[in-house]
Amino acid sequence: MTAFEEELHAVEKKVSAQLSDGRFQHCLRVSDYARKLAQENGVDENQAALAGLVHDYAKERPAEDFLAAIDRFHLDPDLKNWSRAIWHGVVGAEMIQDELGIDDPAILDAVRLHTTGDGVEMPTLAKIVFMADYLETGRDFPGVKEAREITDKSLDRGVFYQLQHTLSFLAENGNVIYPKTFTSYNDWARHFA
Ligand code: GDP
Ligand code: FE
Ligand code: FE
Ligand code: FE
Repeated sequence: MTAFEEELHAVEKKVSAQLSDGRFQHCLRVSDYARKLAQENGVDENQAALAGLVHDYAKERPAEDFLAAIDRFHLDPDLKNWSRAIWHGVVGAEMIQDELGIDDPAILDAVRLHTTGDGVEMPTLAKIVFMADYLETGRDFPGVKEAREITDKSLDRGVFYQLQHTLSFLAENGNVIYPKTFTSYNDWARHFA
């Protein structure tokens, strides 16, 4: 085994210990899909595979862990007004660095941005994890096949597709929408206008 494969296996064990089997399997599929998108887009596939593996590491933590971490890591106190859907990326990145010892800033940023996306300056690795989370082979929503085809042709078009559809979905269901979700959408809508 290469040193990287050994690291990946060690991290897999730590991720699986934090998650239900269903969510752990999702993380493995995101890791695989991120590797594929990395190959298509000239990104280091090992870096993408590791980022995909850890992206939902914090998803099942109790609210009190996130609230304590927001203080401990001096994050924006407004985060306390949100919920696990938002925390597990932004706050989860700090937990991943602290608890898994992953220090690669590109991986930590990709985790931070994987729920809300970011503007057009979003790093390629972050686009890859954002799309792998949406398109992994276990995902089955109307349009997923089209979304996969668009993303294979253009990663950027895929990012915009997801932002557009997620925003519509959240609004249709009357969910509260995090401001960054709007600003990410607006930036890409302007870009492609
Ligand atoms: P998951 O962790 O694999 O389920 O995927 P994500 O991290 O991308 O998203 C987590 C959840 O947050 C999903 O149910 C999204 O629809 C939801 N979500 C994404 N953006 C927002 C937002 O701006 N506000 C709220 N309330 N939920 C959001
Ligand atoms: Fe997530
Ligand atoms: Fe996502
Ligand atoms: Fe996910």
